[in-house]
Amino acid sequence: MKLTCIGRYGPYPRAGAGCSCYLLSHGGKNIVIDLGCGTLSKLLGLIGTADIDVLVLSHLHADHMGDVLTLRYALDASKKMGRRVSPLPVYLPAEPQAEYGLICSHGMMDAHIIEDGMTAGICGLDVRFALMPHAVPSYAMRFEADGRAFVYSGDTRENDRLAPFADKADLMLMEAAFLSRDKTPGAPHVDAEEAGAIARDAGAKRLLITHLFPEYHETDILD
Ligand SMILES: [Zn+2]
Ligand SMILES: [Zn+2]
Repeated sequence: MKLTCIGRYGPYPRAGAGCSCYLLSHGGKNIVIDLGCGTLSKLLGLIGTADIDVLVLSHLHADHMGDVLTLRYALDASKKMGRRVSPLPVYLPAEPQAEYGLICSHGMMDAHIIEDGMTAGICGLDVRFALMPHAVPSYAMRFEADGRAFVYSGDTRENDRLAPFADKADLMLMEAAFLSRDKTPGAPHVDAEEAGAIARDAGAKRLLITHLFPEYHETDILD
């Protein structure tokens, strides 16, 4: 498995950068995880539209799926030019309905609804999903192959489910949307300190933090 970070800001990007988007490559296949605003142009710098094998959306907030609306046009063009014949498999939650409808109603999108505890074989990887507490249904996901595990938190507030779900992950990609000083009770995200604690409790071998607030200094988040 090889992970490339395409975009790492939320809920809006830093100038010239993108929101959440990650390219997971395995066995010559390309899985795109989230496609937030500002990320399609960066993704297309690495692979073509027809080279995306599967799209997985943790949840349907614009900083994770905004550019999927534009991807629909690229998929149409890809079909017209004969580069892609069949629709793109898209794993996504069924809510909120308005956003889900915009994606699943498109002819070049083959929707697979994610549910809590669901397992799937995606591009030769064993994948599991777990529902996380957030403002809308949001899913953490665990990818395994060849005895290695990669876990992505999606968006989540602190909870007891994520650490066991990420048990001994080789790499944990974890949101850290706040600094503790700015976090209010009931906020729908973790802060950087909580992100570190969850990864430690999980026994993750490496932690990659993401979903960075564009106004923060990255050294403060790291501290
Ligand atoms: Zn987000
Ligand atoms: Zn969100």
